[in-house]
Amino acid sequence: MSGFNTLAVHAGQHKDPHTGAVIPPIYQTSTFIQDGINVLRAGHEYSRGSNPTRNGFESQLAALEGGAAGFSFASGIAAEDALLRAVLEPGDHIILGADGYGGTNRLISKLHGKWGITSSAVDITNLDAVRAAVRPNTALLWVETPSNPLLGIADLAGWAAIAAEHGALLVVDNTFATPYLQRPLDFGAHAVVHSTTKYIGGHSDVLGGAVIVADHLHRGQSLAEAVGYQQFAGGAVSGPQDSYLAARGLKTLGLRMERHGATASTLARWLDDQPEVTRVYYPGLERHPGHELAKSQSAAGRGFGGILSLQLSDEAAARAFAQSMEYFQLSVSLGGVESLVCYPREMTHASLIGTPLEIPANLVRLSVGIEEADDLIADLERGLAAARATQPVHKPAVVREKALENA
Ligand SMILES: *Cc1c(COP(=O)(O)O)cnc(C)c1O
Repeated sequence: MSGFNTLAVHAGQHKDPHTGAVIPPIYQTSTFIQDGINVLRAGHEYSRGSNPTRNGFESQLAALEGGAAGFSFASGIAAEDALLRAVLEPGDHIILGADGYGGTNRLISKLHGKWGITSSAVDITNLDAVRAAVRPNTALLWVETPSNPLLGIADLAGWAAIAAEHGALLVVDNTFATPYLQRPLDFGAHAVVHSTTKYIGGHSDVLGGAVIVADHLHRGQSLAEAVGYQQFAGGAVSGPQDSYLAARGLKTLGLRMERHGATASTLARWLDDQPEVTRVYYPGLERHPGHELAKSQSAAGRGFGGILSLQLSDEAAARAFAQSMEYFQLSVSLGGVESLVCYPREMTHASLIGTPLEIPANLVRLSVGIEEADDLIADLERGLAAARATQPVHKPAVVREKALENA
């Protein structure tokens, strides 16, 4: 079997037989001419059901994750929603990693709660806690690793074993690691979800999501059939332009992840030495509690990804730091070629304020882009200078409207 970067460039990317175009055309069409009633020329009828541009991207992604099939959606949340609808029944219970994407928690509790779906949040690093949370109606375990924003590492084989013991499905949100670093299906997960908005698209110019499934029977139906039917009947598909952009991004994923990881590692070490920084969360640091596990779950030498979080002395310092840099622009989202900084407590994870899962007020998350490391360090120096300036005279925090809850 071909290696990662070869598959990334070629899987699902059929050259155009008519013109010889190296890049498959973008099939910007809603419908396909039939050669007779229900006589389909190339299997395509209507673009909600199938579209060559979207299907090419789905095959490319399935090849990279080592899955039986891939399905592309209009956003990461749309992908998650489709997967949940495809596999759950009213009354089912979900075990959900506590330190995860706030929108997943919101989707399950606010939208699926109405259909009798319940969930329990668990510490993703504690397998005993996961096992203790299993109920007779537990149908699904859902985990993100590395987690967001605390970069905890879950033992994927351990989670898969608990799911298997109870006949439940294991779903892994692989948005942060990407298939370049980690392939959850190889560890026994049944499905992987992505926000392709992040590293897969890679350029902060497209929203998208995906589900990749293993060859697995669930409630008498293959997962591929169940998710495929949900995609067609529910209709939250990605359009041809968005599928094309995501497929184009995916071709350079390996190159970008290497660079993101190398620079993030340099910055994590540098930040770790700064007196204003009280703690750095990055799985590439040897003293990170999940360092060895992250290494063992990842392809050798491919690094630890491009996301890191840090804590400053207090809330004022964290706010000043987050709002004073030039290249690290204050924004939700992550995974693009440009560096971003986020204040998770009030931005991506605002819906958790007042719950046991709320994010500390002195925490800042960085998405490290592909710029030169020296320029990014100079930028972090600006941020730390602004953080220091808050210390002798305490300035009141900037009053803002409740920030957007989504990332
Ligand atoms: C952004 C994100 C999502 C949601 O994806 P959208 O494309 O924004 O809908 C899900 N999981 C993780 C880990 C994310 O970062």
